[in-house]
Amino acid sequence: MKVAIMGGGPAGLACAIECEKLGVMAEIFERNPRVGWLWPSINFWPNIFYNNLGAKDAREYIKTEFGIDFTVLNSTASFIMKSAGKQVSVTGTLGLTVGRGTADESLENQLMRQINKTPIHYNYLGDYNALAKEYEYVVVATGRETEARNMGLWQDEGSITIIGAIAVGNFDINSSAIYFNTEYAGTGYGRVTPFNQHCGTVELYIIGKPEMQAMELFQKFIQTEKLEALDYLYRNIPPTFTTGKVTKFQKDNILLTGRSAGLTDRVLGVGAIEAVVSGTMAARAIAKKEDYSSLVKPLQSHIESISAFRKNINNFTNDDFDKVVSILGAPVIKQTVYNTRIDLVGKAGSILKMLSKS
Ligand SMILES: Cc1cc2nc3c(=O)[nH]c(=O)nc-3n(C[C@H](O)[C@H](O)[C@H](O)COP(=O)(O)OP(=O)(O)OC[C@H]3O[C@@H](n4cnc5c(N)ncnc54)[C@H](O)[C@@H]3O)c2cc1C
Repeated sequence: MKVAIMGGGPAGLACAIECEKLGVMAEIFERNPRVGWLWPSINFWPNIFYNNLGAKDAREYIKTEFGIDFTVLNSTASFIMKSAGKQVSVTGTLGLTVGRGTADESLENQLMRQINKTPIHYNYLGDYNALAKEYEYVVVATGRETEARNMGLWQDEGSITIIGAIAVGNFDINSSAIYFNTEYAGTGYGRVTPFNQHCGTVELYIIGKPEMQAMELFQKFIQTEKLEALDYLYRNIPPTFTTGKVTKFQKDNILLTGRSAGLTDRVLGVGAIEAVVSGTMAARAIAKKEDYSSLVKPLQSHIESISAFRKNINNFTNDDFDKVVSILGAPVIKQTVYNTRIDLVGKAGSILKMLSKS
């Protein structure tokens, strides 16, 4: 059996690792000259998103369920949440941060080192139609919606413009900060995350404001949150991307995984774990002739439960963000939410009902 994997991100690489384990011959086609986003970045995996997994955190889940292990950058023990009029700080076992990009310890390079014999064709812009004629299966792991859209399987749910910067200065390695302010982020957010004590990322996820204002809004973010003391090495604005979901995960011999399958939530933009899991599921479905959609559907339900909050957030004013930040920092919430294993995502439906009554 011959499998073509389009894209060498977390979904494509995890798929290749599992194909090797199951004795399936695969080849990766990657458009860039190497794996890993060309700009360094940091992913955050909040524990509250993964409390339903029955594991300590997302990393342990991936290790026990799929035999894929990797080192993380830091464990997040403290989180500062700030809105226009409120600021709270929460502590606990809040989540993990993982490097992305071309560094040796990026998630992509760590996954890459777990691949033994799968060939990777770099600088190869895969075309799913052409590959589908040549290979028995094509796994689409391009991190974009283009293929699902062309196949008529994509539903738009909004868009997001990200502007990210690498900054040097003083960072606390176990602490991250998240900022909400409609003036610069629309209904998105800003985030400061450390790589180490001296370097970190400053990112703005803009929702509901024009892409062409991104640089200006980023400047406003820096000034408003008094982040001018950091020295910004460079800034990157990836193309604005559509967020959405797919109506089917497979069409004929073409399987959609990761962000190409809409498996990134629409509240914080988290989706790397879902990329790894769906890539692995695609390999299993192919090797064992199982129904891929049934394997991957629970991931979509999980993502949709988180994303259900987006409709409410889209109407938020700064007063609403102040209220939410106050609630998130209330003593009772601090004790129950951040330091226990409550499946908040699973309870999203009842939380939304409560919110709509308040
Ligand atoms: C700035 C930013 C911050 C994020 N923060 C977080 C976070 O904090 N936590 C989290 O969990 N998730 C986060 N995400 C989301 C998460 O990283 C993605 O969901 C994850 O990278 C998806 O993995 P993927 O393998 O599907 O796609 P990608 O990681 O995008 O990989 C796709 C690969 O396919 C290649 N490619 C594209 N088109 C082709 C083609 N036609 N032929 C061949 N190769 C192709 C690309 O070059 C790339 O290497 C963030 C995303 C962004 C953009």
